[in-house]
Amino acid sequence: MKILQIALDVPLDTLFDYSAESHGEIHIGDRVLVSFGRRQMVGVVAGMADHSDLAPGRIKPVLQVFRDTPPLSAEIFRLLRFCADYYHHPLGEVVLNALPAPLRQTRPVARAKPVGYQLTEAGLTLATDALPARATVKRKLLQSLKQAGTLLRSDIAAFSPIAPQAIREFVAQGWATEIDEIADSAHFSLPFKGEGQDKMPLTPAQEQAVAAILSGQYQFQVWLLYGITGSGKTEVYLRIIEQVLQHGGQALVLVPEINLTPQLESRFRARFPDTCQVSLHSRLSAGERLRHWSLAQSGRAQIVLGTRLALFAPMPKLMLIVVDEEHDSSFKQQDGLRYSARDMAVARGKQVGAPVILGSATPALETWYNARTGRYKMLELPARAIAEAALPAIHCIDISRAKLANGLSDSLIEAMRVRLARGEQSLVFINRRGYAPVMRCGQCGWVSTCHRCSSRLVVHLREKRLRCHHCGHESRIPSTCPDCGNADLAPIGQGTQRLEESLGSLFPTARILRVDRDSARRKHALPEMLARIHAAEVDIVIGTQLLAKGHDFKKLTLVGVVNADGALYSADFRASERLFAQLMQVAGRAGRDTLPGIVLIQTQFPTHPLFQALIRHDYPGFAATLLTERKQAEFPPYCHQALLRAEAPQMETALAFLQKAKDAAPGDFDVSLFDPVSAQMARLAGMERAHLLVQAASRGALQAFLGVWNKALFGLGGSVRWALDVDPLEF
Ligand code: ADP
Ligand code: ZN
Ligand code: ZN
Repeated sequence: MKILQIALDVPLDTLFDYSAESHGEIHIGDRVLVSFGRRQMVGVVAGMADHSDLAPGRIKPVLQVFRDTPPLSAEIFRLLRFCADYYHHPLGEVVLNALPAPLRQTRPVARAKPVGYQLTEAGLTLATDALPARATVKRKLLQSLKQAGTLLRSDIAAFSPIAPQAIREFVAQGWATEIDEIADSAHFSLPFKGEGQDKMPLTPAQEQAVAAILSGQYQFQVWLLYGITGSGKTEVYLRIIEQVLQHGGQALVLVPEINLTPQLESRFRARFPDTCQVSLHSRLSAGERLRHWSLAQSGRAQIVLGTRLALFAPMPKLMLIVVDEEHDSSFKQQDGLRYSARDMAVARGKQVGAPVILGSATPALETWYNARTGRYKMLELPARAIAEAALPAIHCIDISRAKLANGLSDSLIEAMRVRLARGEQSLVFINRRGYAPVMRCGQCGWVSTCHRCSSRLVVHLREKRLRCHHCGHESRIPSTCPDCGNADLAPIGQGTQRLEESLGSLFPTARILRVDRDSARRKHALPEMLARIHAAEVDIVIGTQLLAKGHDFKKLTLVGVVNADGALYSADFRASERLFAQLMQVAGRAGRDTLPGIVLIQTQFPTHPLFQALIRHDYPGFAATLLTERKQAEFPPYCHQALLRAEAPQMETALAFLQKAKDAAPGDFDVSLFDPVSAQMARLAGMERAHLLVQAASRGALQAFLGVWNKALFGLGGSVRWALDVDPLEF
């Protein structure tokens, strides 16, 4: 009997045996319907065997084999398997989670409706009066198609109620063809069809980078493209992608954030107007995501641009992977399968034998280390691409001495006044949305805290609400102190809304715009706000990290940073690395064009090495300092880590589970296990969180240990929710 080993989306580290009878040919990677317990589930064929350990009577048959899409390729399966092995996560969950939602349903997907129609050669040469005179709709349709080249399905439906039927007959006659993707059509007049933007001559540094990567002949190699903000990294990607397209290959481009996709997408479309390009991210509708995924799978989409989930798009002709802003922690998924899309991109490149370009102005320390030690090859773009766009001058404003008006120093206010007078823009960067980070009672010292998390409740004054930014819990702002009854509670500290208020009274005639997750909540709100900034309809922008990345505002010449000190003395050993990257990135928003830019950072610690390095624009110097510290402390990249995370309603339960897990650890591996401790954020959404750190000098030792330990963990049972986090970023 033929046994199919099926991957199912269940939290068990095993495949499930089913028999295949009378379903015709079945491939690895096919989706099948099976009964599992009392449910029906969709699974993916992960293996085949001639024999099963189950008694023959207990092996159930596969109920249905879906033929709606081609099976997952061996290539993508290899990646998913690697991912499951590396993160010690059940293969079934890894495989099923990589599929677009419609493919996880227990019924086959309906064939996607075509986007539009075009005439074939036969249709183009067909004379209108070859159609019967009374077939007026068909005649008009034929004429319109000849004129327009392509008609959208929606246009055709609007044209006449019987037009959809007419066009289907055209297709049946061989006069018209269905178009699945806008980009199929070279002569399609839609707004995003670019003008075929001209290429500019490369700078010598770009030239070198492009030549180096191309000299690799599309073999596997990881390139670190280390280039300051505005140095033209994107232009380098575009040149390499151009070559890949000419070879008929596919390119995968990963970005850390959905908000960065639209601008990159339009830049790519402008350069390659005739190439089929798709995006993949969580904001697409399920249908769109499936359509884009299928275009990647069939090889038709030559450029796939997306967030970390795009990593798992099947791409049969994959020739290049780009990870832009590779240092960004959004590439790491923080729940379920806790994978790093950057690291798995490197693994994928290695598997298929394709170059991987990691681009950043402030590489992750792990990446930097790999480049310094020769595992990755370093390419540097040391200057801004536009010669007149000098790097902004960065200064610290010592606020331990200066007096502040609503969190703003005189020097920063004065600098903004100057920009206003000159008609230039200022950005005030503050990474805290809401009005104020906390509400406090002046009498007894009560502060607003979330009862479900170890966090404070943020004041949202306009809505008169206190909100937890971690779990979403909300309540009204109390009129009196819940502890002592005192009536004057005060918001403490600065948030974006409060800053907006202060700036409004400081500069009553200025046009002020606040860009944070609250003001950008509405669909299309962010693109609209960005457009207003670009159109110079705004004088002062108050922005969170939402605005820190990627954007290129020509008239923006001042960036003010208020309140950056929080991360300087954090318990998280990566906090300063992240702060540096973030400040470098916001600083990079200033003076992108020919107007010189300046960055003013308000801090109590102006002599801190981090700010000193920042002022010198000295990422390598700062990285060297950090690496020395990490080496002394034996932190990554000088060791490899994994966390066993546990969550329970009671902290003791979580800690007891971890202790049991520690006791169950196999002894004969070269790893160190630390004691269970509570997480930095000990309570989240009503659950107590703790973890146990495992550390090893070699990745191999850590992996070998985790492989054995993971099996033991599944045997521990109990009601504790636990997860392994390999290469953790959050503690
Ligand atoms: P990065 O991705 O490194 O931040 P970009 O590729 O966005 O940089 O380039 C920054 C700016 O410089 C853009 O406006 C881009 O059009 C321009 N640019 C890039 N390369 C060149 C070049 N070789 N010559 C002139 N301008 C360039
Ligand atoms: Zn009180
Ligand atoms: Zn909360």
